[in-house]
Amino acid sequence: MENKLFVHNTLSRQKELFVPINPPHVGMYVCGPTVYGDAHLGHARPAITFDLVFRYLRHLGYKVRYVRNITDVGHLENDADEGEDKIAKKARLEQLEPMEVVQYFTDRYHNALDKLNVLKPSIEPRASGHIIEQIAMVKKILNAGMGYESQGSVYFDVERYNRENKYGILSGRVIEDLLSNTRELDGQDEKRNSFDFALWKKAQPEHIMRWPSEWSDGFPGWHLECSAMSTKYLGEEFDIHGGGLDLLFPHHESEIAQSTVANHKSPARYWLHNNMITINGQKMGKSLGNFIQLDEFFAGTHAALEKAYSPMTVRFFILQAHYRSPLDFSNEALQASEKGFQRLMKSIATLEKLVPAGKSTVDIAALQSRCYEAMNDDLNSPILIAHLFDAVRIINSVHDKKESLTADDIALLRTTLHTFVFDILGLVPESDPQAGNQVIANLVNIIIDLRREARTNKDWATSDRLRDALAQAGISIKDTKDGATWEME
Ligand code: ZN
Repeated sequence: MENKLFVHNTLSRQKELFVPINPPHVGMYVCGPTVYGDAHLGHARPAITFDLVFRYLRHLGYKVRYVRNITDVGHLENDADEGEDKIAKKARLEQLEPMEVVQYFTDRYHNALDKLNVLKPSIEPRASGHIIEQIAMVKKILNAGMGYESQGSVYFDVERYNRENKYGILSGRVIEDLLSNTRELDGQDEKRNSFDFALWKKAQPEHIMRWPSEWSDGFPGWHLECSAMSTKYLGEEFDIHGGGLDLLFPHHESEIAQSTVANHKSPARYWLHNNMITINGQKMGKSLGNFIQLDEFFAGTHAALEKAYSPMTVRFFILQAHYRSPLDFSNEALQASEKGFQRLMKSIATLEKLVPAGKSTVDIAALQSRCYEAMNDDLNSPILIAHLFDAVRIINSVHDKKESLTADDIALLRTTLHTFVFDILGLVPESDPQAGNQVIANLVNIIIDLRREARTNKDWATSDRLRDALAQAGISIKDTKDGATWEME
């Protein structure tokens, strides 16, 4: 196995050669979703980013154990959010068992990720299934003198930790700034310092999801689950920890502090963070009305969408940006991705029709090397895609007899495209209903011909009846000056 993959490590703030602790094994932990709502565009980016990492490491020959958790209990986005967690609240309103809500949204999340062709992780642990491990970790932190109990809750003593270690090593924040920047929030009276975070929270009477402990009937703090589950499945020290940039602070910073105290080790060697998605330059948020669910993309039902976008269009759109760059969603950008994706798929089909020549006029081996160089340079998918479009141009030129390739080079080009497009980028051809289902297409065209005849005879009633009947069957007709076009919903 050639070892020349460089990744940008948030911890060192630079690109580093990726060297696993115990090759060929690689342990990778990625923070998964909180399952109290439908999967939206913001969920797609980390899922696809770390799917790319997973796929590429496997392609390089590593045996990857990929752990991605499901956050299903007591998710405190900040300590002001105490009292009841979101899953419990939703459960009460809908008169459901909390785990029923968890299962429902977990299934919805899996379904959306399946459509996006995201590979399943090796292990997908739930926070609610690891309460014992989390309580054990709280005890270790208390025994080390780095936590304190207050009114049934347990908090991590950030100031004490900072005296012996450095809190802020990942985010670059310093404790003095935290002190001046932390607003006075509800529940602060229980804590020694406003920036101390909860390891265990005492449950309020209305809080449904709760477990017994020696401190109170309660639930673990959000940061703790990832420390406990990554330790359990990947060991005290593992290779890669990933997640969205929004999790860098305080979530990942606090994970490092917890593991450093409980395990005497910083948990991960390489910290990788994907950047965020904005919508028309704006942050995504429920209150901003631009919170687009993945199913709404696939069906085209959100008001901000001009049309439906297929799962592969969304996947290709995300991969066209480098994972560390911000990515702005717009209808124009998605439509450009849709065209690009279709062009790429079309040329892979054209490749099968190329006629070999006695000599090659293009260097395919060099093209393949450039594809690897792009991926080895911190998984630079946009540069890789640019090289794949060079391959598209080569295929078209050979097809038009402007360039030529030997049979061996055609085979190498096929291997290169299939490897990078299907295996590594994880794209799959999507059937075009107008081309793919020829029988339906022929029938629709017969009906459109009948309608054209009716219109020529000024028989508007028949024309409208045919149009409405097609609409009912899920086919919309658009009149143009040359006739009509149609599309299937
Ligand atoms: Zn996490």
